[in-house]
Amino acid sequence: MRRVGGKSRQSASRVILFLGAPGSGKGTQSSWLSGQLGIPSLSTGDMLRAESKRNTAAGLKLRKILASGSLVDDEMVCQAVSSRLRLELPARGIILDGFPRTLRQAECLDRILSDLGIAGPVVVHLDLPNGDVSRERLISRMTARRQCGVCGSIYNLMSRPSSLGMLCEKDGGVLLQREDDQEAVIRRRFTEFDLSCAPLVEYYKRADYHRVDGDRDTEVVAAEVLAIAGPAETSAAA
Ligand code: AMP
Repeated sequence: MRRVGGKSRQSASRVILFLGAPGSGKGTQSSWLSGQLGIPSLSTGDMLRAESKRNTAAGLKLRKILASGSLVDDEMVCQAVSSRLRLELPARGIILDGFPRTLRQAECLDRILSDLGIAGPVVVHLDLPNGDVSRERLISRMTARRQCGVCGSIYNLMSRPSSLGMLCEKDGGVLLQREDDQEAVIRRRFTEFDLSCAPLVEYYKRADYHRVDGDRDTEVVAAEVLAIAGPAETSAAA
């Protein structure tokens, strides 16, 4: 995706979080926005997948949960995310992809922000129609998704193939299918999302909450996201 304005923009510490169904484009939008704003992004899915590769009892347990499409328990996720947030938030803020996913996690995030004296998050909800037709379309898109085993860049066999076939254009890493991008697991992930989304929207809707129609071209969605999450114009000189 193109850079807007030709250079990264940096802003004071703040939190931007993406809500959305599996396949709604949270990963793509958050990494692009991260490049635009100069704020790091954190994907709890990537973090947990990395943890699950450890050859420990905890790693094995995690691997089973991820492969089933269920959510990892709140305590474990909050613990893992807390230390990272407390370290990174004060400097430049963070873009969150996939956290919080439950009310307990939202409360955990609020506690951390309040401890650090940082304002509540800008919530960007990438909303998709949830009828059967669009879900089937999403499932086709997700089963065609491939990720570089080295840098994590995302490709799609149908809509965004690599010019190097099954290798990453950035570093030549092999492109792999995520274990949880198998059809049966995707369906379970949708069920989890449908259960958890409404309470989170309810929780955030009186705050800085923005519903964005995610069922459009990536660039169009990105422009709207940037308009919402881009740094506020500084009227007073620092
Ligand atoms: P994602 O990459 O965001 O689609 O997440 C992949 C998987 O990681 C999910 O299906 C869950 O099993 C797990 N996961 C990611 N983020 C969370 C979270 N905040 N809470 C619980 N489980 C999570």
